[in-house]
Amino acid sequence: MKLISTRDTARASSSYADVLLAGLAPDGGLYIPQEFPVFSRDELQALAGAPYANIAFGVKRKLVDGAIPDDVLKKLINAAYAPEIFEGGGSTVTPVTEIARDLYLQNLSLGPTASFKDMAMQLLSREMEYQLGAEDQRLFILGATSGDTGSAAEAGVTGMNRIRLCMLSPEEGMSAFQKAQMGALSGDNIFNVSIRGRFDDCQDLVKAVKQDSEFATLGAVNSINWGRIAAQTAYYFAGYLSVAKKIGDPVDFAVPSGNFGNAFSGYVAKKIGLPIRRIIIATNENNILDRLFKTGVYEAKQASVTSSPSMDISKASNYERLFFEVSGQDAEKTQEYINAFAKIGRVDMRDFGLEPKAFADRGFVSGTSTHADRILAIQTVYKESKIIIDPHTADGVHVARELQSEVPMICMATALPVKFEDTIREALGFVPDRPTRFKTLEQEVSGGFTVLDADIEQLKKFLRERLF
Ligand SMILES: *Cc1c(COP(=O)(O)O)cnc(C)c1O
Repeated sequence: MKLISTRDTARASSSYADVLLAGLAPDGGLYIPQEFPVFSRDELQALAGAPYANIAFGVKRKLVDGAIPDDVLKKLINAAYAPEIFEGGGSTVTPVTEIARDLYLQNLSLGPTASFKDMAMQLLSREMEYQLGAEDQRLFILGATSGDTGSAAEAGVTGMNRIRLCMLSPEEGMSAFQKAQMGALSGDNIFNVSIRGRFDDCQDLVKAVKQDSEFATLGAVNSINWGRIAAQTAYYFAGYLSVAKKIGDPVDFAVPSGNFGNAFSGYVAKKIGLPIRRIIIATNENNILDRLFKTGVYEAKQASVTSSPSMDISKASNYERLFFEVSGQDAEKTQEYINAFAKIGRVDMRDFGLEPKAFADRGFVSGTSTHADRILAIQTVYKESKIIIDPHTADGVHVARELQSEVPMICMATALPVKFEDTIREALGFVPDRPTRFKTLEQEVSGGFTVLDADIEQLKKFLRERLF
């Protein structure tokens, strides 16, 4: 299976291994399969009841297409999803629970940092370390985070020899829990920099540093990395296999969405043959995607701060991949569309000869959830099933309940409630029990950050002293 860039009219192809370390394509586009492999019903049937690692191997092997040898891939997958990493997940790793009639929760958050981002980062970091070894290379990664990506990426590269990671985060705005999570992960190959500024300043610094030729080879682990999308595709298969009464029956998935990475992985699962009927995009008040799917207009608005903060985005970086698909893999049109959006922050697909029905035809429907909806969803699920869901999962459950019809609905649980105690206290009047590994996190960890001004020269100096 070859990959192409969404902006390359020449359709030059790369292998999975080529794009693993790259992030964005050189032309600024995103990598996507040129042709999607096919997963037959028999192959799907053969995975029913298998442990998660076997399902992941079966799916991933199609997407990797020999670029990493099978025996290596199997080892990396077994290590990434081992019971000591996904605590309490057992061999299923992403356990599924029925919370109401035909309404299921798939828990994707049992990894080391308690969000679904561990599902991709645990495998991606291992694949990168392997690939760097094969090429006898090393990689210094610079990223920006305002929450879950930072800790998940750091937990992923802990102890790796060929990867160093520097994460910029805003001095204000992250919760004490998130700060302590990252601080605890500081170490030999992991550097946390707290920037006196906002998340946007952190992102701008990353961009500016990478434009300097001295730092041009710095790597990235943001949500547009194809390896992350590919790793996430596997849990759709696992969720499907635990819910479908017989192979071939349709199911719906509800996905709390921000940058559209998780949901795009669902699209890939559907494309390669998983019988998904609909992918329900649940946004919070920052609902650029919901507005897009309903009207065909993609329009950025200033992101507001909500109680599901990991979905607080003003634009959804992975959406370019879906537009490319909807356009019939037309790189020229995609370029024009993205450029038009970059210019004025608003673009209407009708001006490009496309109708919003194109999204529905591919299974996408959407809805918005507000703070009040989240609180109510947390209360209702607790009352009905004694399960405490986190505010992001609550966005998904709220929209899923509105749109549920006919077939089983699987809601993805994208974080553990322990990360968002204040909102849980508001909804339920108490805070959830903490998993043992987080019991005294904030008390035990202080520091772990170097504080810098939002100043490119200060950052360059800091990096120079730590590069390989
Ligand atoms: C990152 C994140 C999301 C959004 O996922 P995308 O792939 O960016 O759409 C949802 N919930 C939680 C808890 C997250 O950390």
